[in-house]
Formats: sequence, C-alpha cells, structure tokens
Amino acid sequence: MLTFYINPSHKAKRNFAVLFVNAKTRAERLDTCQGCEHYVTTTKSCGPLVTEAFTDSPLCGCYMPAKTKLKVASCPLDKWEALITSQDIETIREFLERDNADRTKQELNVLSTKFLGGQRASGCAACNRKLLKQLKDLVHNADSQA
Ligand code: SF4
Repeated sequence: MLTFYINPSHKAKRNFAVLFVNAKTRAERLDTCQGCEHYVTTTKSCGPLVTEAFTDSPLCGCYMPAKTKLKVASCPLDKWEALITSQDIETIREFLERDNADRTKQELNVLSTKFLGGQRASGCAACNRKLLKQLKDLVHNADSQA
C-alpha cells in the first residue's frame, strides 16, 4: 500500500512568512510599545482599544500583541516602522490591477524578491499564480489595517 505524506502546514507557513515579521522584530516592536507612555497594560493596546474610530486621537487603539506581528503595520507615532510601506503596497496594487499581458515576469521577480522572501517567478504558470496570490494577500492585509 502506498502512503502519501503531505505536510498540511507548508502553505500556511509560507503565507505566514509573507505577512508576518520574524520573532526578533516582533519582540523589538512589542518592547517599544510596552515602554511607551501610550501603551495600556490592561488591554495591551495603543491607547484605549479602537480609539481611532471614536475620537481624533492619533493612537490606533489596536491590540498590540497582534498588530506588532504584521509587516504592513507601523506605529502611528513613528516609534517603529512598517517593513512594507504604503508606497510599496501601492506599487504592488498597480502591478496587480494591470492585465496579465501588461505584466512582465521581470516585474513579478522584482516584487516577489523584495516582498515574498526572495521567491522568484518561473516558467511554471501555477507557481507564478501563487506569487500573485501572495502579493494580493499582502495588499488585502494592508487594506484591512488602513
Ligand atoms: S504603537 Fe507606537 S504609540 Fe502605540 S503604544 Fe506602540 S509605540 Fe506607543
């Protein structure tokens, strides 16, 4: 009897690496927040939770143990930066919104090398579609933070 082993977490691990910072960066960000005068220890948030929705406070009101994991996230007071900036996201978005015929493999290589951990486009259409999907996930992730 043949038995096939499929690692079910492989895809999840790759998406995790695309969207989230490494443990060191996350710990540095969280240390900064925990030393910040605006950090609310009881809710682990930047100011009161969801501040921004109800006041004109510049604080984001986010739950920081989660927010500090995201590559696209940044401190509203510039105490730590996003690894992928809003300008980067607009560059990716512009590329994704073009027709297939107007996108080149070279452009996909530049974006995937920079934002997808060095992954490269290839002659494999399915592999390239995965890269496009990961870039879409990044944009979606950034939009959900906006
Ligand atoms: S995100 Fe910035 S302002 Fe908010 S708690 Fe962290 S360091 Fe302070």
